Order: sequence, then C-alpha cells, then structure tokens
Amino acid sequence: MRRLLILLSVVAVVGLLLTRAEPFAPSAELDTPVDVIGRATPLKVTFRDRGTGLAYVALRLVPATGEPIVLAEERYPRTSWWGSGVHEATLTPTVDAGATRITEGPATLEVWAIDHSWLGRGSGSPRATRTVTVDVTPPTLEVMSAERVMTVGGSESVIYRVGADATQSGIEVGEEFFPGVAGLFTDAALRAAIFAIPEKTPEARPKAVAIDAAGNRRMIAVGATVKARRFAEKTLPITDDFLNRKVPELLHANGLQDSDDLVAGYLRINRDLRVTTEKRVHEICRESAPQQLWEGAFYRLPNAAPLSSFADRRVYLYDGKPIDRQTHLGYDLASLRGSPVPAGNAGRVVFAGPLGIYGNTVILDHGIGLFSLYGHLSEIGVSTGTSVARGEPVGKTGETGLAGGDHLHFSIMIRGVHVDPVEWWDPHWIKDHIDLRLNTFPRATARAAS
Ligand SMILES: [Zn+2]
Repeated sequence: MRRLLILLSVVAVVGLLLTRAEPFAPSAELDTPVDVIGRATPLKVTFRDRGTGLAYVALRLVPATGEPIVLAEERYPRTSWWGSGVHEATLTPTVDAGATRITEGPATLEVWAIDHSWLGRGSGSPRATRTVTVDVTPPTLEVMSAERVMTVGGSESVIYRVGADATQSGIEVGEEFFPGVAGLFTDAALRAAIFAIPEKTPEARPKAVAIDAAGNRRMIAVGATVKARRFAEKTLPITDDFLNRKVPELLHANGLQDSDDLVAGYLRINRDLRVTTEKRVHEICRESAPQQLWEGAFYRLPNAAPLSSFADRRVYLYDGKPIDRQTHLGYDLASLRGSPVPAGNAGRVVFAGPLGIYGNTVILDHGIGLFSLYGHLSEIGVSTGTSVARGEPVGKTGETGLAGGDHLHFSIMIRGVHVDPVEWWDPHWIKDHIDLRLNTFPRATARAAS
C-alpha cells in the first residue's frame, strides 16, 4: 500500500514536471532585419513555443540613454492544465504605435517571449536582440523654382533641394511618381525633375516628396496653377474590311485567344491589349539617363497632317452603334506612305520591336525621364542601346499594329506617362518651362554629371 502511494506520488511529480515544467523555451525571430528605424518602419516578429504555450510576447525598443519603450506586447492566459495552447504568434508594430516620445540615435530592439512552464522559460532575458538606429526626422526639402502655370496633360520641370539623408525623392502627382535626378548642378543637394499632370487625373496636384532610409517622408506642395482642358471628342467608324484585315493578325501576333466574332476580337485588342501595351511602355520608361540628352524643341514628322491629337476621347462605331470608348494618347501624323521618321530629338534607343497596339515601335530615352515613341512603323532602322541624333531616321511610317492606314503614332512620355507633344514641339514653351528653369543654377560639368 505504501509502495503504491509512493509510486503514485512519483508518477504525479513526474507528470507535473513533464507538463508544467517542460524545458522547451519559446523562440522568437525578427522577420524584418532593419538597421534604421523610423516612425513608419514596418516591423514583424514571429514567436513559437513547443511546450505549454506562449504566456507573454513583446517587442521593446531600448535607447542607449532613456526609457525602454514597449512597441507591442500580448498576454496569453492559461486556458487549461496544459497552458495557453498558443504555440505561434506574430506582432507587427511600428514605432508610431508604441511611442509618443522617442529618443533618436542608437538603440536595441529586444524581442521577449515567456511560456507557461514552471521553469519560466524566457523570463530572464530577451530571446533576440538587434542593434538599430532610431531616426524619426524626415529629410529636409525645399522647392527652388518659382510658381508655374501648366495645363492638364501638360509637362513642367522643377528644381528642389533635398537633405543628404534622402534615399528617394521626386514629384508625386496623383498615383504617378516622377523621380528627381541628381548630379546636374554644382550644388550636389539640388535635384531636377520633369513631371506631368496626367490627362486621366486632372485634379491631381504636384507635391515634392523626400524619403530617407528609415521611411520618414517629407512632402511639400509644388506651386502650380493648373489650367483645365477639354479634350476633343472623336468618332471612329470600324469597318468589316478593317476587322478582317487586322483582328486575326493582331490576336495571333500578341498571343491572344482567337475569336470567330471579329467585333469581340477587336474589343479584346482595343481594351485588353491597349492596357497591357501601356503597362509595358510604363516599364520601358522606368529607367532614364540622369543627364539631359535632348536639346531644344522636338522635331515633328515633316509635311504631315495630324489625324488625331493628344487625349482625343474616341468613340468607336460599328454598324453606326458605339461599341467602345478609349483615349488616344499621342498624335497621329500622316505623310506619304513609307516616309522616313526622324528622331524627335537626341536620345538613346531603349526599345525597338513589336509593341502591342503600336505595332513596330521605337522608344527613345532623352534623359531625366523624358521619352518619345514612334508607332505603326513599316520598317525599324535602329537597334536598342544605340544613340541617335535629332532628326536621324529611326524607321519608316506604316500601318503595323492597330492602325487603319499608313501613319506615324507619335507620343511623348514622362516616366511612361503620356503628355501633349505640342508643348515639346514648341521652342518657346521649352525655353520658358524647361530650359530657363534648369539653367537657374550653375550646371555641373558633363564629367561630374556622368
Ligand atoms: Zn495613334
């Protein structure tokens, strides 16, 4: 009897030790290996415990001098004999969430995790630490150039001065971002940007933005009076002859599903292919030379009549009924069949080949985010990576892509955003809106700029 009692006691003690004093310490991992922390820096910590479950988890910021700040913490009470049953947890705080007052400078991130074990695993010291620098001050930012008057769908330039800690800066207009370019001026803190009021967001206004490594962001308005604009409404009849000639060919050339219904196939091209084409244009125009490669006004296809202007609101008619509406982002210029197409200005060929609705296309980078596009070419005369001079032929006019007859589709884009080319064809406009502004400050030598 006595032996049995002793045996039962031993079993009870061993059971207690195994379940309540388990030796599995909780683990914790900082999933965001940050070095510099700002107010909005996203942090993520994952906690795991194999035994009794998590009892307490926390992320603390301990400055070199000053009080520790709890950025986030969570308690998981015991729910059964076995513990909390919480074996995994995550915390995703930012400094802002936990701190009203914060000391800048060196600090340590401490990740704490305690489980329900009687051994109190995890209570003595943090499970993980990381040395960081706390920086909650956004970079300095100052717009240098005077107020400007611009038009919806039009372009402008700006010079701003930004703090040395800025890792990214530029002009934000609605959803579009036009990065500034460094190295143009002897004053290394100055940046130049060319930007647009996109025709599709006429209410958006330009703001200069500077962001540092910690994600601190300063934003100030760029003084601009924006003139509203009404774009032309145009109707475009679609004929059976055109559908027969273009739809099967374009569906096939662009890897789209064939269609017996030519109108349905046409809509797939005019809607879906138009969207994917513009996405590619945006991607092609992401990287631009940090120097101004162009000079003066852009060259226009000579002796050519404009068939369509920038941002025409097109209504497509089939059998007299509207079947689609799209915005035409460029100029259609018609000259003699197969006319040589001159480069609008000096630049570098960043694309030469078939490009969706534009057919055979050449895109030139003119630097500081400025690009020109030549579409529907019958022949391409340049190859990617080469430089062209102003007026040098890049190909011949044609009707490849979504074109009903021989013409040139000409677009000017800033970082992939189509703008009205009329401004860039006008030497007075370029002088007032671009050259005078960019020449306000002493330019760095070509060598320093490269
Ligand atoms: Zn066009």
